[in-house]
Amino acid sequence: MKWMRWMVVGFGMIGSVWAAPQAVPEAEQQQWIKHLLPLPHEIAIAKSVTLKPADIGIVIRNDAGPVQVQILADLTALFQERAGQMPTGTTFQIILGVLDEKGQVEGRAVADAAHLKSCPNSAQAYLIRPDGDTRLVVAALNEKGLYYGAQTLRQLLAAKLTRDSIIIPLAVVTDWPDMEERGVWNSPFEAIPWMAALKLNHQTYVCGQTPGTNQIPVPRIDRVKLDMLRQYAMVICARMLYHLNYFDKYYGLYKFYPELKGQGEKAVCAGELFKFAKRDIPVICASQPQWRIIVADMLKEMAAQGAREVTVWLSEFEGQCQCAECLKSTQVQLESKLVTEAWQEARKKYPDLMLRIFFSQGDASPATVQALADLPPEIKIERVYSIYKPFLDAAAQGRWVLSFSGAVIGNSDQRFKISEALVKPITNGYTAKLKGVLSLCGPYLGNGLIPPNYYPIVLDYPLSALAEWSWNVNGRTVRQFNAAWATRHGFNDPALFAEWTEVISALNPGMLGTPSKKDFKNQFRVTADKIKHRQSLSCFSTQELTIALGQCWSALAIAEKLNQLEPAVETRYFLACVQMQAKLAALSDLIVKSDVTQPSGRQQVKEAWDALRTAMDAVLAAKGRQIDLWKAKPADFTKKVQEEIRGQWLEIQKAMDEAIAGLLKTMPVNVMQ
Ligand SMILES: [Zn+2]
Repeated sequence: MKWMRWMVVGFGMIGSVWAAPQAVPEAEQQQWIKHLLPLPHEIAIAKSVTLKPADIGIVIRNDAGPVQVQILADLTALFQERAGQMPTGTTFQIILGVLDEKGQVEGRAVADAAHLKSCPNSAQAYLIRPDGDTRLVVAALNEKGLYYGAQTLRQLLAAKLTRDSIIIPLAVVTDWPDMEERGVWNSPFEAIPWMAALKLNHQTYVCGQTPGTNQIPVPRIDRVKLDMLRQYAMVICARMLYHLNYFDKYYGLYKFYPELKGQGEKAVCAGELFKFAKRDIPVICASQPQWRIIVADMLKEMAAQGAREVTVWLSEFEGQCQCAECLKSTQVQLESKLVTEAWQEARKKYPDLMLRIFFSQGDASPATVQALADLPPEIKIERVYSIYKPFLDAAAQGRWVLSFSGAVIGNSDQRFKISEALVKPITNGYTAKLKGVLSLCGPYLGNGLIPPNYYPIVLDYPLSALAEWSWNVNGRTVRQFNAAWATRHGFNDPALFAEWTEVISALNPGMLGTPSKKDFKNQFRVTADKIKHRQSLSCFSTQELTIALGQCWSALAIAEKLNQLEPAVETRYFLACVQMQAKLAALSDLIVKSDVTQPSGRQQVKEAWDALRTAMDAVLAAKGRQIDLWKAKPADFTKKVQEEIRGQWLEIQKAMDEAIAGLLKTMPVNVMQ
């Protein structure tokens, strides 16, 4: 067995000063534990030892695969960053390893090792135990658990590590995740190291493709990406391109196989929202045997390239092919049957290939109950959109069901909000025996998505909350989480930060935000039309606005006592938004009621419109100050996005200006360019 040895084993080396362990008072323990996120299930720090960073040595196998190499890299990076040196000391050993069959790590028995097997999700569980006063051991049943143990260790050490000293906790930790899978989908790969450090483990890997014969795409697996997933203890599953019904839109499949497209009007989901988003695409005709051949070939191809678990996404959105054959059954049954049969075909050649089916089809109907009942037991069920009863029943009956229906993390306006919407789906999912509740991560800002390097800034708070409750459902209260988050981020008064988040979380999110034509739900998208028809532009009553203003002022008073700028800058943005909503309400009243045949009526509308434009400029300026605080690469992102947001307002402003001019039958006033 080969071990990475940064030291010669032995104590009392020249130059090191051994200090006896000290008791850690309860209050200090609690303070220390606030540096941990998520909160471990069982933790006690009765004693600690104070040493010099140069006294510490890390011991870990360096021939046991990428996870252990990563752990060593993480820990050495911490020592280099905080202490300016490598952990190559000899006085105190930190030993990390996967337990062998005798329950030992590096030939040393680990207390309570046998207990690990009885932990929930034991493959990801770990122990931290002192071994006398000169060793601390992190042990797990496999490399995933070890990775999480190392993250806890890293957070514990980071709290008390400086250039001159380190306080090592002689901690006793037993920990495991409540949810087997935790995290987000649709987030960038580059954000993985940061998410994994929060013990999140799900990030959808989508395989690539090259064009094949007759417009059938050939999947391409990126081994580097699979390796990266392993290195960070992430779930290793490859998504087979996209929803089956998008294979024509993206790859031109129906050019050679027009019969694969679902028939009839009812094959297309109905509704304005789908049209607006250009997602009114027919479901597939799942009765066509050619579909089974295509999917089986793609699965074989992915397995041949190293994929061991694949998820296939069914047609997206409601629809039912109207061909005679499909009408004998239902869309959800036919699609899940075709994917199951394709997988069974692929398994003849690749018996260890695992399958997940992503149910973007299915509802509360008996057809869905039957579709799920017909699945072989080893197929895992993934469900997006509403978790209807058949999916919950399947989970209750012991099926493996993962939900993709957690709260959407995409609001870059209100970044420090924990709503029921974020925590509830996780706690409910835990009770319902789901394997995880993932969030869609699509933080749009300006014209597009926030770049990966900005994730740790813009999304740290909501993703930390997701990490907290997915790992330890009944651990912290919202207030305790806020205090822990603020402690980790260097706030002078974490309890006050917690108070601030409670006040701003109560704000109505509908009042906050900048105008955009690209967002279907943005109230300004249709404002010009409403002016033309003299309809109300406003969504909020005077009473609602007064309450919101009061909330903003209270929040600002709290935020200004904090040592970090973000809460105050963000609160001023909210204040500007609410003030702007008040000006919009005033204009709205006049648009509906004022007599524009009279000069005084026209004057009132003009003045109200001017006031709204001024208020909107204040919103954009406040938003700009919020974005200016985000420092990451590419550095020009912040400027670009500010221009884009302003551009979207100018477009709407122009349309509103023309509509108002039409109403007043005057020439448009000059619009800022
Ligand atoms: Zn059909």
